[in-house]
Amino acid sequence: MTFEELELDETLCHAVADMGYETPTNIQELVIPLAMDGRDILASAPTGTGKTAAFLLPACQFLLDYPRKQPGATRILILTPTRELALQVYEQAKSFTKHTQLICGVITGGINYGTDKETLSQNLDILVATPGRLLEHIEKETADCRDIECLILDEADRMLDMGFSTVVNQIATEARWRKQNLLFSATLEGAGVRNFAKDILINPEVVEANPSRKEKNKIHQWYHLADDFAHKQALLIHILKEQVTTAVVFVKTRERLQMLKDVLASKGINVCWLQGEMPQDKRNAALARFKSGEVPILLATDVAARGIDVPDVSHVINFDMPRKADIYVHRIGRTGRAGAKGTAISLVEAHDFAMVAKAARYMEEPIKGRVIAELRPKNKTPKITAKKKKVATKKKTRPKNKAKARASSKAKSAGKKAK
Ligand code: AMP
Repeated sequence: MTFEELELDETLCHAVADMGYETPTNIQELVIPLAMDGRDILASAPTGTGKTAAFLLPACQFLLDYPRKQPGATRILILTPTRELALQVYEQAKSFTKHTQLICGVITGGINYGTDKETLSQNLDILVATPGRLLEHIEKETADCRDIECLILDEADRMLDMGFSTVVNQIATEARWRKQNLLFSATLEGAGVRNFAKDILINPEVVEANPSRKEKNKIHQWYHLADDFAHKQALLIHILKEQVTTAVVFVKTRERLQMLKDVLASKGINVCWLQGEMPQDKRNAALARFKSGEVPILLATDVAARGIDVPDVSHVINFDMPRKADIYVHRIGRTGRAGAKGTAISLVEAHDFAMVAKAARYMEEPIKGRVIAELRPKNKTPKITAKKKKVATKKKTRPKNKAKARASSKAKSAGKKAK
């Protein structure tokens, strides 16, 4: 399938081609036609699957199909859990709309209020925002959500984890005249996201990126058994020196991150890092150094690394295993992006094995052990097996006569608008 076959406006197809996308990804093929038919969507699509374009392209198409008749407030609102993700989505929105007259803006915490004021004073077609800062503006009446026609929640599972559900619901109440809702989450498992979705979506189509968890062996994954913390450090140094071109190394706490960066520096390994509660300018500077290739190794905690989009990361290294299997999937999604091959290596001590097993089960894929000859562990490797589970993939049948279906949905939508 091509982007033209998705019946996207030629300005959007042109932008997509400029970005080097040749064919739509699986989630884009599934979501775009449904979203263009005006349906609410509950989509399971982890980062790396092309989910951002899956919601931005139909949103842009809607704005082009129904141009604004008079100046006014924002029409499409996209909420993201973190500042970095908001900025990335905004950058993609700008790229998709560059051959159009559509105006995009972003407001997040950490940006000064003067800049927000300027942003909000425009006739924004698309606003990307983090929930906390947007709610502040709504409360101060410096932002108006009453003209929102489509509400998009990106990485909804993470928003829930970060405690944003009440704020998001408040914003959704403000945007009560909207006609469409799209909710994207890395996983739809667990009652949390489903309940959250019930409050926001109306009779949604459930779409699951195929394969949502195991990216068809695109990411080579293995683990190294470490006897203790010192052994783990030795393994990391070896891997970084011998195997890695670019890597994101995940560490569980700020304290460990600081300690590890000093250890690596003492071995001549130059790193940059992202940790929670870092001033925005420092985060941006660290990311810019990593993205430009100036420093090829990025140390990060989970919260800090959420939403970073760096296309050419060769390795993800779990220096510490995450707390949950879906976080493991998020982490390894930093590599093997956009069709590239990637490698994810976990350094695990005996007490981490339950988590390795969970991640393997979650992805329905075994994670095998490997040994570096000169750093062989003294302990024996526990056996890990992955149970096979059936993955439910919802394939929707398209309307037979698409043009007719879209025309009727447009008419319906125009009818609603007139009210
Ligand atoms: P996302 O899942 O939206 O974070 O996208 C992951 C990466 O895939 C980003 O770097 C996108 O620019 C890229 N991407 C998205 N859609 C496509 C596509 N159809 N073809 C190639 N790359 C894509």
